[in-house]
Amino acid sequence: TETYIKAIDAAGALNAFVHKTPEIARAQAAAADARLKAGDAPDMCGIPLGIKDLFATKGVPSQAASGILAGFKPEYESTVTSQLFADGAVMLGKLNMDEFAMGSANESSVYGPAVNPWRANDSDAALTPGGSSGGSAAAVAADLCLAATGTDTGGSIRQPAAFTGTTGIKPTYGRVSRWGIIAYASSLDQAGPMTKDVRDAAIMLKAMSGVDAKDSTSADIAVPDFEAALTGDIRGKTIGIPREYRIEGLSPEIQKLWDDGIAMLKDAGAKVVDISLPHTKYALPAYYVIAPAEASSNLARYDGVRFGHRAQLSAGDGINEMYEKTRAEGFGPEVQRRIMVGTYVLSAGFYDAYYNRARRVRTLVKRDFEMAFADGVDAILTPATPSSAFALGKESADPVEAYLNDVFTITVNLAGLPGVSLPAGQDSKGLPLGLQLIGKPWEEGELLNIAYSLE
Ligand code: GLN
Repeated sequence: TETYIKAIDAAGALNAFVHKTPEIARAQAAAADARLKAGDAPDMCGIPLGIKDLFATKGVPSQAASGILAGFKPEYESTVTSQLFADGAVMLGKLNMDEFAMGSANESSVYGPAVNPWRANDSDAALTPGGSSGGSAAAVAADLCLAATGTDTGGSIRQPAAFTGTTGIKPTYGRVSRWGIIAYASSLDQAGPMTKDVRDAAIMLKAMSGVDAKDSTSADIAVPDFEAALTGDIRGKTIGIPREYRIEGLSPEIQKLWDDGIAMLKDAGAKVVDISLPHTKYALPAYYVIAPAEASSNLARYDGVRFGHRAQLSAGDGINEMYEKTRAEGFGPEVQRRIMVGTYVLSAGFYDAYYNRARRVRTLVKRDFEMAFADGVDAILTPATPSSAFALGKESADPVEAYLNDVFTITVNLAGLPGVSLPAGQDSKGLPLGLQLIGKPWEEGELLNIAYSLE
């Protein structure tokens, strides 16, 4: 713990930690030592973690990297962090992220962007660690913590993992309680671990998982020992390669990464088959209707009354001015854009044309996967992202271009499936690239084992 506290202090330029908690870490580490000595050491005992700022941590600033939650210190602990702490984990601090988890480059944070510890071999330009869990990814990659929590609504665990050479899994929707995680799009949000490797992900996922009476969408399904599933034996497994993910303009380097992954799976004794997921091309637009719609509803609670920031009012201002000024000052531009899009697609005149149509697309996307699994496919292999980490500043310059970056990850959230991103080599600039494996619902153990065989 002391080593990590020092490393965090020395790595301020990465802007990964936005709030450090060394005193809490030392107290938790001492308690973990005592448990170890007493022979009562659960899996996470004494493991120093970073916690994404989206998780409510009792008495510790939890702002979702937003100005509107300035000064907010929850009086409660999220279920995920309670479970991790009960298991002996140590919290080093809160990690940078996109504001309310909206983004793919960590550029929408009120704290400024986190920075990728990797640099291209042909340029000194600072690169994004990805987003929204950019601080988590940067911190794990730079050894500022042993592992971190992330959340994934449309790829926010898997894309930053791919950009930083780390491993991340978004579990099946309902595997991990969302209670105490500041909501973005509730029907898509899931928390998961971001780690150095697949084994750590398996161990930490088990500690995070389980039914929770405080989250009615958490599933009452037994949590297996995911680590025990890591045999590395994938003989006889069937891996699907979805034709529709060979998108136009896919770079030869990404194509090669994918082909190499296919060859490794074949060498390990898996059967690789071509599959079709015909509604893939509608997933991205459907996501960028559904996620903002849910966000506009979830973010209505930030009104200057109950939490965080309240604007200075002028004489004669009433409650409407208070709401307007508070929200205009507190929310950054990307969050305001999403609230406007979401409010528009939910409005009486456009609800059927946009929101209801997007929901129908979502069902079709889910059905595509169900049919592939019914045909005997055990998991699906794709690239995690269409490129390696890009330069900071690019996302804010062109938000629609940034949305396109989520093309491989978003279908998994729409379908509620587990997806893992694991490091799988580097591009010609020496930057890490990630492969994604998509699994059957509740089969995270099998999915992690296939990932393990590629490690
Ligand atoms: N980039 C996507 C978005 O901005 C995904 C974010 C996420 O998974 N939290 O919505």
